[in-house]
Amino acid sequence: MTATRGLKDIGEFGLISRISGQAPEGPGILIGIGDDAAAVYSNQRRVNLITTDMLVEGVHFDLSFSDPFSLGKKSLSVNLSDLAAMGGEPRHFLLSLAIPPATTVDTLDELTRGMLLKAAEYCVNLIGGDTCSSPDRLVISITLMGDQLPERIVRRNGARKGDLVCVTGAVGDSALGLEQLKKGIRAGYAVERHLDPTPRVREGVSLAEAGLATAMIDISDGLPSDLGHILDMSALGARIRFYDLPLSRFFREHTAGASPDSVLRLVAGGEDYELLFTIPPGKFHDVRGLMERLGTSVTEIGEITAEPGLVIIDTAGELIAPPLSGYDHFA
Ligand code: ADP
Ligand code: MG
Repeated sequence: MTATRGLKDIGEFGLISRISGQAPEGPGILIGIGDDAAAVYSNQRRVNLITTDMLVEGVHFDLSFSDPFSLGKKSLSVNLSDLAAMGGEPRHFLLSLAIPPATTVDTLDELTRGMLLKAAEYCVNLIGGDTCSSPDRLVISITLMGDQLPERIVRRNGARKGDLVCVTGAVGDSALGLEQLKKGIRAGYAVERHLDPTPRVREGVSLAEAGLATAMIDISDGLPSDLGHILDMSALGARIRFYDLPLSRFFREHTAGASPDSVLRLVAGGEDYELLFTIPPGKFHDVRGLMERLGTSVTEIGEITAEPGLVIIDTAGELIAPPLSGYDHFA
């Protein structure tokens, strides 16, 4: 019975109280869910960082292969990742939902459970949101707030000629996972990376607080495209070594014998949610030490050049054409 219970049975306010009933109280909140607006304390010396991301069924996720629990986690993770890419400490978030009539209460409970589990893992609090109906697609929009000292924030535009380009973790698994999901494969390392990516929050905050990163971005559109944003904003270029790109063992096994072009296509597929950042030359040792303490791998993949544009080279020093730019919703 309950598995098929719909929103009609509990109503908008019933749903809001199911969500708020699962949200624990957290630090820094004066007024949480339930009034016309939330009120949170702010720290005088620090500035607020605010980011928002919208996930639309049929565009960002497919409910035939993303379970609602993972979807709840991922919806918050993509926002945590954006804040991490600035070096911000995440604090509070708002959740807005547009829900089609056929959605079951169970689906929404699972979505909330996944999201609030992620929230607890990163110590962020749900402080409000909005809920409405949607004609036929589920829309999840999250706004996340955090803070940092102004001088610690890492922007996209700070790269300098000669800086080293670094990336956390591994790239390409998420695109490989999506490809596998589309073929009907429902489990495995790459599928997990696609459905439940790890936002590099502690990594981003530590890099910012140590003053090591000159520019930073998270990999949502794909490494070449996101690096392109740093290059455009910094008015510089980069030379990247294809053979030094960090690829997981799973990825290597599943792409053994594939051409560099097809490997690069997956690397450019996006949604890895790793951090891509630049550091002054000579600082890689410090960066590796910092990341090691967090249990995260980091790889130096190339350097920033004065000539604009992205150049990717193979072991023989030959150029590999970078894949066409990343995902564009209106292209
Ligand atoms: P209003 O009519 O003033 O917009 P609502 O009835 O939409 O108020 O919301 C009542 C309270 O519930 C507010 O505190 C709002 O932030 C919160 N809320 C609404 N939808 C959600 C949601 N999906 N998740 C968390 N809190 C929500
Ligand atoms: Mg409202």
